[in-house]
Amino acid sequence: MTAEKMEFKTEIKQVLDLVVHSLYSHKEIFLRELISNASDAIDKAHYESLTNKEILEGEKDWKIKITADKDAGVLTISDNGIGLTKDEAIKELGTIAHSGTKEFITALQSKEVKDNPELIGQFGVGFYATFMVADKVTVVSRKSGVGDKKGVKWESAADGSFTVEDVEKEKKGTDIILHLKEEEKKYLDEWEIKSTVKKYSDFIEHPVVMDIEREQESKLDKTQKVKVKEEETLNSRKAIWLKNKSDITDTEYNEFYKHISHDFTEPAKVVHYKAEGASEFTSLLYIPSMRPADIYYKEYKIGPTLYVKRVKIIDHCEELIPPYLRFVKGVVDSSDLPLNVSREILQNNRQIEVIKNSITKKVLGTLSDMKEKEFDKYISFYNEFGRVLKEGVHMDFSRRETIGELLLFPSTKTEKDKYRTIPEYVDNMKEGQEDIYYITGTSLDEALKSPYLEAFKEKDYEVLIMLEDIDDVIMSSFEYKGKKFKSAIKGDVTLDKSEKDEKEKAGKKYKKLLDLINDRLDEVKEVRLSGRLKDSVCCLVGDEGEMDPQMEKLLKSMGQDVPERKRILEINPSHPIFEAMNRIFEEDRKSKVLEDYTDLLYDQALLLEGSKPKDSAAFAKAISKLMVENVQHVKA
Ligand code: ADP
Repeated sequence: MTAEKMEFKTEIKQVLDLVVHSLYSHKEIFLRELISNASDAIDKAHYESLTNKEILEGEKDWKIKITADKDAGVLTISDNGIGLTKDEAIKELGTIAHSGTKEFITALQSKEVKDNPELIGQFGVGFYATFMVADKVTVVSRKSGVGDKKGVKWESAADGSFTVEDVEKEKKGTDIILHLKEEEKKYLDEWEIKSTVKKYSDFIEHPVVMDIEREQESKLDKTQKVKVKEEETLNSRKAIWLKNKSDITDTEYNEFYKHISHDFTEPAKVVHYKAEGASEFTSLLYIPSMRPADIYYKEYKIGPTLYVKRVKIIDHCEELIPPYLRFVKGVVDSSDLPLNVSREILQNNRQIEVIKNSITKKVLGTLSDMKEKEFDKYISFYNEFGRVLKEGVHMDFSRRETIGELLLFPSTKTEKDKYRTIPEYVDNMKEGQEDIYYITGTSLDEALKSPYLEAFKEKDYEVLIMLEDIDDVIMSSFEYKGKKFKSAIKGDVTLDKSEKDEKEKAGKKYKKLLDLINDRLDEVKEVRLSGRLKDSVCCLVGDEGEMDPQMEKLLKSMGQDVPERKRILEINPSHPIFEAMNRIFEEDRKSKVLEDYTDLLYDQALLLEGSKPKDSAAFAKAISKLMVENVQHVKA
């Protein structure tokens, strides 16, 4: 049978081109990627063999073997794992783009990534790292447990295409054969291989072995030395999470993190503990220091890897962690779950619930500790993951206050780049202040200048500033220690109880004028006196419970249909303009000036909230007219 030639998918061609032409440092990571793939293939076979013994083909020991052939310049990494069928080889290695391909291509164009090719695994394109060191790669593979010896040979020189053909393969599993570039032959050296395996793959559970040549006394003639080859295991294989904390160095913790997360930065925190009692399990969890590019995407894989008695069961077990802690990476090894546990069982499993609760508590506790003791570090964490964590206030009712205490906000009273926590805010509330106030906005400066804050400033009330799109949705339904969160730009604001009666009285007094203004303005549903304005004459507000104007703008900018809804025009009763309008109203209710002023008031309110006047030309004309009238007394 001759080989069939096929084209790589365009995106993979781009990846290969970048790998071959722009990555020059840390080339040794290709070995880490291949060992990691081999280990995954063995995990899959192991897992399947629990219910189907055929998979084993009579072989009990799992193994990853490295063979260096110096004469041929060929390095081979073999495993006895699950293997690939011909179709899978075509798809997995050439024609489907892996989830991170696009991001990888963009990232690779940046300098940071070029200097850190360790990143390559993060994007699920680890296999292609082989082309940093090899000018040709051959993959010979056979699926395990199929009953015949029909395998596949895949080959490529990274030149845009690959070939596949049917071959016989005696043993199940996969051989990755690298025809090393002339200048990369050092990867055939025993020392180079040993140290690379130690550095990156020491904790891989399956043995990574190599035939090592040694000199030995000859059995026939003890004065003579002979050379013998013996298989040696290069990795210590100890599941790091089962070791004692005191026996694990920071480097070991960090390397393991990089292995499971494919992140190249050091984690911000390690959470390693063993639980005994209601449920027996060990967790080794990490809080990363950098937000993965896809954390807000549906495709983002949530949850630590689940092991049962050291057997890897599920790569990302989302049942183990609430979505608002989805940045946490790690491993959970349970002693109680059955080995053949399936996704369905996981969904309503009491043990899993116990573990999830314990992890959630532990992670929130760790964050709280970090906030107390390492505030600067906590700020860095918060800048990366605060938005994700905040979802918890909305989603986890029983822990909403605990999560609320972890949030940070700028406020009208904090200095630049400083933050306020909710407990601090509550401690600093003014006498008579009942609610926690916040204002949403798109930038700190804009929010600080907002006319909606005038009364708060006068009363010296602090207002939290919320700049994230989800803030209003989350905070408007939150209550902390019995205190409600109220938006400064929504609902009726009365900061002082004594002012309340006065406002009601004034409301009655001016009712007819307010009604007249309301009748003229179709665009508003109500006109009322304001408790939030001091210098400005008017502003537009929504009802409490209505969508936040920031959220509305965001949704519109994303092309979503947002139903038009009428707003409330609030007027400052002590502003001279309003007083003047009232005088005119009392003289002549049908006055043209009153009509013009009403239109101008509404346009001003639109401008103050960052919108455009209804009719810009008419607005400009009206202003010009007023300006002219104002200077008519000045003689030419
Ligand atoms: P990732 O491992 O992140 O999915 P890779 O580019 O490293 O991305 O590998 C692509 C795919 O090729 C893997 O998902 C797997 O299906 C397959 N593969 C790679 N190496 C092996 C192997 N040794 N045995 C079986 N399948 C493998």
